[in-house]
Amino acid sequence: MNKKSHPDGLEKIDILLVDDRRENLLSLEAVLACAEYNLIKTTSGYEALRYLLDHTPALILLDVQMPELNGFETASIIKSSERTREIPIIFVTAINKDQQFVHQGYDHGAVDYIYKPYDIHILKAKVAIFVDIRRQHNRISRLVSVQQAATTSLADFTQIDTAISNVLESICTSLRWDLGLFWRVDAQTQTLYCRSEWHDPTYSSSDFAKGCFKQNLSRGVGLPGRVWENKKALWVTELLKETAFPGLIAATKENLHTAAALPIYVQDETMGVLEFYSRNSLSEDPDLVNIMSAIGSQVGQVLKRTETLELIQDSEARLAAIAIENAKLYQEAQEAIQVRDDFFSIASHELKTPITALKMMIQIIQRTLKPEAGALSSGEKLFKMLDASSKQINRLTHLVEDLLDVVKIRAGKLSFNVEEVNLSDLVKEIADQHCDPLAAAKCPLKLKIEPNIKGHWDYSRIEQILVNLLSNAIKYAPGNPIKIEVSRIDHTAKLVVQDSGPGIPKEQQPKIFNRFERALASQNISGLGLGLFIVKQIVEAHHGTIHLESEVGTGSSFIVELPTKILDATLPNPKMPEGHLPAVAS
Ligand code: ADP
Repeated sequence: MNKKSHPDGLEKIDILLVDDRRENLLSLEAVLACAEYNLIKTTSGYEALRYLLDHTPALILLDVQMPELNGFETASIIKSSERTREIPIIFVTAINKDQQFVHQGYDHGAVDYIYKPYDIHILKAKVAIFVDIRRQHNRISRLVSVQQAATTSLADFTQIDTAISNVLESICTSLRWDLGLFWRVDAQTQTLYCRSEWHDPTYSSSDFAKGCFKQNLSRGVGLPGRVWENKKALWVTELLKETAFPGLIAATKENLHTAAALPIYVQDETMGVLEFYSRNSLSEDPDLVNIMSAIGSQVGQVLKRTETLELIQDSEARLAAIAIENAKLYQEAQEAIQVRDDFFSIASHELKTPITALKMMIQIIQRTLKPEAGALSSGEKLFKMLDASSKQINRLTHLVEDLLDVVKIRAGKLSFNVEEVNLSDLVKEIADQHCDPLAAAKCPLKLKIEPNIKGHWDYSRIEQILVNLLSNAIKYAPGNPIKIEVSRIDHTAKLVVQDSGPGIPKEQQPKIFNRFERALASQNISGLGLGLFIVKQIVEAHHGTIHLESEVGTGSSFIVELPTKILDATLPNPKMPEGHLPAVAS
């Protein structure tokens, strides 16, 4: 319970008694003593003035005849000070009863002049009037100050929760509530949850408040729920008489007697509830309820404004994110378009070259075979031309096959026919088939092959791996030796195709296994940038790996490792993500 409170919640009112005779002070005390008054006894004018330096009692009962500083002189000093001027003074005297003294008393600002022996009932009644005036005065200044404090808290804040905590604190301290709680309506669950609290420092144990934070209240449940439902402030003078009150036991344990709750609202919408508890028994004050309701509306408007601002800010954070995402997508689309355009130009060049060569050769053959051209050219010359034509046709076929493979890979339709394959024999066979190109490129080939390395794979796809890697070595490392190694470690077959060509810069190495990616240095050498991509897909479909070891200037080694026993071969990532493949291949 608050130190200066009466058990009923009425604050104790200070009354200053001044008399040089102790027996007079005692008899005044005997008459006035009651729980509502705080009687301060002083035995001289000086002592009284000292007390008034930092106190403002509701009334001064002042003896007239006193040594040193008499009652009139004391009253003059009291009335001369701005701070104490308004304190009512009643002179109490047994001696100075003449009219002139009475006048003198009123001249010194007295509100009454009482002779001894006084009528106890009259004295009590007069004192009670001034006490009542002080109470009214205190009440009105509290109402004004609570309104001001709430307005200040709401006018100047950076964070809405801090502002509401400040409102709770200012209402509690101005109105002597021990505990204030802020309940917020959760629009989604349609319940009230406790968002913040403030309690008086002398009210430390607050299991009741802790309990509030753990529960959600539906409409109509508990005091906050009832306020939410009725949209009206609620005052409960004696909580113990309440039956439907969820935290009643905890509240009783903590001696909470009175509660008041008010809606936080904007127009028709209740946004939350402010709830207050006191350890005193406080009777309902309609003016206070009105002021608290006005504060509820103020808090509601601020809360709404803050929420709207937050919403606006939120949608601004979100719009920015969409803009960034769009910019990213746009850039990716631009890059994809660029890749597609590059691909078109390379593909048309690649396809045009063998076609042009074929056309030329056919024209020469036609000219050669014309009757007017005279004698038939030698069979050897014709054979050479047809041979060259066949190579160009092979080149065209290879290009078209690569394109088809990419389309199949993208659709997840590259099929595999797993059977036993002798890798050692296959490598030798491919090496034989490439004798001419190897010789033409001046690339001596060295084979280091362990015999009979077999595995369960797709024969033609393994062949494709070998042809691609060997063709690349011939294409990118002409004039340099090439080495092919086949070995086996446990259940893994290892194939290495090594050249001593220009090598591939480190930063470009990870990219060359992607579709249409070509290392910068090879831009002048024909190719679509599909070979290694297809190789990698085939290797991974066989549950194997491929990696590159290369240094610029020393050459490149492509290392393929394949498990010798696989149950089936499937593409690791059948469906390629959209947007990376040029439209031509779709
Ligand atoms: P393409 O040969 O059609 O360009 P690939 O997918 O076979 O496509 O190869 C991708 C790129 O990798 C080539 O463009 C080339 O830059 C690089 N590359 C491949 N093999 C070698 C090699 N043996 N030496 C140097 N660069 C190579």
